Amino acid sequence: MSICENCREYISDYDKSHRCPPAWLVWWPETERFEEDAQLIFASNDADAATAFSQRYDWNSASFSIVGGQDAWLCVRPAAGGPITWFRVEGRSEPVYEAKAIQFRPASLGKKRLAEMAAAAAKHTAEQP
Ligand SMILES: [Zn+2]
Repeated sequence: MSICENCREYISDYDKSHRCPPAWLVWWPETERFEEDAQLIFASNDADAATAFSQRYDWNSASFSIVGGQDAWLCVRPAAGGPITWFRVEGRSEPVYEAKAIQFRPASLGKKRLAEMAAAAAKHTAEQP
């Protein structure tokens, strides 16, 4: 595994066919310094470049404002020159739940909780037709 010195993408040592994705300039329009502050982003399209810029910003600032719900307004244009496209990037964080089967040990629940669960189970059983 190595890293492309141009686009910083990981490349398998067996992959001799690496070609860097297109280069984009991405910047915050509200700073009014436009392309002075622009970052060079390699991505397959302008929307992916805006997304990658937003992710990098959130991670580097550690504020996670975009993922926290504050939209980002960005300008993107091909690094080689071309029309500017405006993007509004929305982020969101998604709760993740994961169930893992465990060894059930009634002793760890305590007698009171175990009695409550047994009572609830008995009630549920009694309600069955
Ligand atoms: Zn590359």
